[in-house]
Amino acid sequence: MARAPQQPRMKPILPLFIMVDACGWEIIRNDPFGQSFAPTRKKLESVFGYSSTCVPSILSGRWPVEHRNWCYFVYDPANSPFRSLRPLRWLPTAVTSRRIFRRWLTKFVKVQLKFRGYFDLYNIPFRYIHLFDFTEKKSPLQPGGMNRGPNIFDFLQKRGLPYFVTDTTKSEEQNRDDLIAAIEAESIGFAFQYWAGLDGLLHQVGNQSPEVPAKLRIYEQWIDQLLDAARQHYREVHLYVFSDHGMANCDELLDLKAVIDALPVQMEKDYAVVYDSTMARFWFFNNRARRLITDALKQVSQGRIVPDEELKSLHALFEDRAFGETIFLVREGVLIVPSHMGERPIRAMHGYHPTDKHSYASLLTNQPAIPEDVTHIPHIYRLMEKTALLARARNLSAAA
Ligand SMILES: [Zn+2]
Repeated sequence: MARAPQQPRMKPILPLFIMVDACGWEIIRNDPFGQSFAPTRKKLESVFGYSSTCVPSILSGRWPVEHRNWCYFVYDPANSPFRSLRPLRWLPTAVTSRRIFRRWLTKFVKVQLKFRGYFDLYNIPFRYIHLFDFTEKKSPLQPGGMNRGPNIFDFLQKRGLPYFVTDTTKSEEQNRDDLIAAIEAESIGFAFQYWAGLDGLLHQVGNQSPEVPAKLRIYEQWIDQLLDAARQHYREVHLYVFSDHGMANCDELLDLKAVIDALPVQMEKDYAVVYDSTMARFWFFNNRARRLITDALKQVSQGRIVPDEELKSLHALFEDRAFGETIFLVREGVLIVPSHMGERPIRAMHGYHPTDKHSYASLLTNQPAIPEDVTHIPHIYRLMEKTALLARARNLSAAA
C-alpha cells in the first residue's frame, strides 16, 4: 500500500519569551511597537529596585523578600570578598576613579572571585570597599542562579526541556543569530531572549530621543527574523515580548553625599551607606548617627524615607535589614550624583517608585488575551511555566 507523502516534520509549539530591557509602558504607549506580531498588550507594574531585582523576579515568579536578589551592594564586612582590594585605597583617586581602570579591575575581580552574574565595581570608593558584599555572585539566567529558591531554568532542567537562554557576554545580534540557529536545529522547546541595548541607549539619550523609536524598529526586524525561522520549524509560536521596567528622564541632580558628609558623624565608625542612583540605603552603628541622618534626610525635599509599611506592600521589607535599615528614595526625575553607581550624571534612570509614571513595564503577545491576574512583572513567570508545560505535553504527544 502506498504511503502518503511524508509531511516535513515540524515541532508543535515554541514558547518564545523576549525581554527588551527598559521597554516600559510609556516608551511604547504611543508607538506601534510589535503591532504586526504581538497585537495584544498590557501595562504591568514593575518591582521596586533595579534590573538586579526585576529580572530575577520575572525569572522566578517571586518577590524580592522571597528570592533575596535586590540591590547589588550590602554592608557586610565579615563576609566582604573585597578585603584583598584594601591595599588599593592608597592609590591616588585620579587613577582609581578612572573608568578604564575600574573596568579592568572589575574584570579582574570577577575572575578572581568567580562571580557568575553581572558584576561591576561601579564607583564604590576603595577606602570602603572592604565593608561591602556583592549580592549577585551567581547568574539568575542559569539553573541554581537565584539567591534563594528556583527559577524558570531550574523548572525547565528538572523536566528535561531543552531551552535557549541569552549569553550576556555576547552582543544582541550574536544572541539573535544563536537563537535562530537553535530554532533551525529544532533543538529547543523553550526560549528566553534578553536584549539590553535599549536600556543602555535610554540611559544615554533619554526617553524622548528619536533614537528610541529607531531602536524599536530594529527590534521589530529582529523579532520578524526569529518568527520567520520559527514558522518553518514549529507549528505554533507563543510569543511574549516584555520589559522589566521603564525609564524616566533625569532633570534634577541631588548631591546627597554632600548633605550626609556635612553631618558630625563618620562613615564606617557611625554608619554605612550605599548610594544607588535613586536610593540611599543606610546602616547605623549608634543612635546618634541614626537620629542625625534621619533628621537630615527628612529635610531633603527631592526624596523621602520609605516607611516599613510601604516596603512591606512592595515585598521589599527585609526582616534582617540585610539591604539597609533605612531606605531613602528620590522622586521620579531626580538623580543622586555622585553615587556609588556613577560619578557623572546620566540622561535617564529607573529604580523609582513602581507607581511613578515611567516605572511601568509592558507585556505584548500574539495570544488573544493576557490573563487578568497577570498585573505585575513577577506574573510573567506563570506564563512561562504554563507555556513550557503546554509545549512539553504537545511535543511529547507528537513524538509518540
Ligand atoms: Zn538600566
